[in-house]
Amino acid sequence: MSDQSTVYDCIVVGYGGVGSASLMAAAQKGWSVLGIDRFGPAHDRGSSHGQTRIIRRAYFEHPNYVPLANRAFEMWGELNKRHRTSLDKKELLTQTGLLQMGREDSDVIQGVVSSAKTHGLTIEHFTPDEIRQRLPLFKIPDHFVGVFEPNAGFLRVELCVAAMIQQAVKNGAELKSNHCVQSWDVDQQGLVTVETNRGVYRARRLVIAAGGWSAPLLGNLDLGLQLLHKQQQWFQLDRVDQKLESQFPCFLLEEDNGDCFYGFPEIDYLGMKVCEHSGGVPVSSPADIDRGLDETQLMRTRQFMREYCNYGKSRLVHHSACVYTMSPDGHFFIDRYPGFSNVVFAAGLSGHGFKFAPVLGSYLVDLLEGNQASEFDFLKIGDRAKPSN
Ligand SMILES: Cc1cc2nc3c(=O)[nH]c(=O)nc-3n(C[C@H](O)[C@H](O)[C@H](O)COP(=O)(O)OP(=O)(O)OC[C@H]3O[C@@H](n4cnc5c(N)ncnc54)[C@H](O)[C@@H]3O)c2cc1C
Repeated sequence: MSDQSTVYDCIVVGYGGVGSASLMAAAQKGWSVLGIDRFGPAHDRGSSHGQTRIIRRAYFEHPNYVPLANRAFEMWGELNKRHRTSLDKKELLTQTGLLQMGREDSDVIQGVVSSAKTHGLTIEHFTPDEIRQRLPLFKIPDHFVGVFEPNAGFLRVELCVAAMIQQAVKNGAELKSNHCVQSWDVDQQGLVTVETNRGVYRARRLVIAAGGWSAPLLGNLDLGLQLLHKQQQWFQLDRVDQKLESQFPCFLLEEDNGDCFYGFPEIDYLGMKVCEHSGGVPVSSPADIDRGLDETQLMRTRQFMREYCNYGKSRLVHHSACVYTMSPDGHFFIDRYPGFSNVVFAAGLSGHGFKFAPVLGSYLVDLLEGNQASEFDFLKIGDRAKPSN
């Protein structure tokens, strides 16, 4: 039931990764906030589920992300302290280290080295023999190298979303789950009206954080977003020790042809998660994703594992469909909605945005207060909103 007499300080559309962080930031300011989601907290239909997400600083995609990654590590650390009030709660962030492998002139290796150099980050360089000795799982060709970021690691993605929502609710945020936003509008006085399938809500400000469903909520603003279905897969492997307890790190490998695969140590007895960062199946909406097992994506991952990993037998124990919302240049969009100073959005996180969620959520709220920061300039719409053909 909607209560049209209530005017919230802020409505946040979508409380997945970025939306839950925005809710937390807005509620911490003391604003009255309403979060609206077509599903509910920490669900598995969008982009923020599947046990783990890598967090790293030496950013191969662009050195401009490094200051944001530094802030993200701090913010997850702070949230972890608040969330882990008892020791039986799992850590949000686990610093296993991240080993990235490929040719010395590959995009990943060059990008990591360049970001580390620009920002004075600590990375260790490994020869193929050093990789094989330290991590016998890997069968690395002689022309590959490794760069190891010791403080990188993984986030427990659903737990992170739940922790941010919990902080928001503690500070007074209201939630409307199973409400689908159909449209929004701003009147001449600047009042925002949000129409859902179950009622109408009003606010002074609006955050749009709708992940794979962003395009229909961005009206005439065509950012050229494209959706890719990605399969997450967990394997049990014989004869290797790839568990968290054995100090096995996260890894990412770029093949000679540019294809990229990544993985995590086995946690919670689910098996080792291995997925492809390149590739994916284009879809026009997250609702169109076939959530059954995609044999083609599985076959590509198995082929990668056969080529680069040593193990006996492997068994697929779990899989889960997820969506990348790609921007034309692979960088996020985070900005004010053109023409409205009280409407902001984040979209097109292009398969690498979760680690930044608290940073993006807090910046969206800053933007609503009229505060821009130059370190986000490269993520503004500018002239980037051109559809790719
Ligand atoms: C397989 C996979 C692996 C990834 N690996 C990494 C990684 O290792 N490291 C990393 O940093 N990032 C990674 N990413 C990217 C990262 O997970 C995403 O960029 C991030 O989670 C996206 O968050 P979001 O808030 O934009 O979207 P979501 O978390 O999907 O949230 C959008 C929310 O909006 C809601 N919504 C949408 N439309 C409406 C509507 N009309 N009305 C109401 N609610 C609505 C949805 O229900 C959803 O809850 C990965 C992504 C995938 C899919």
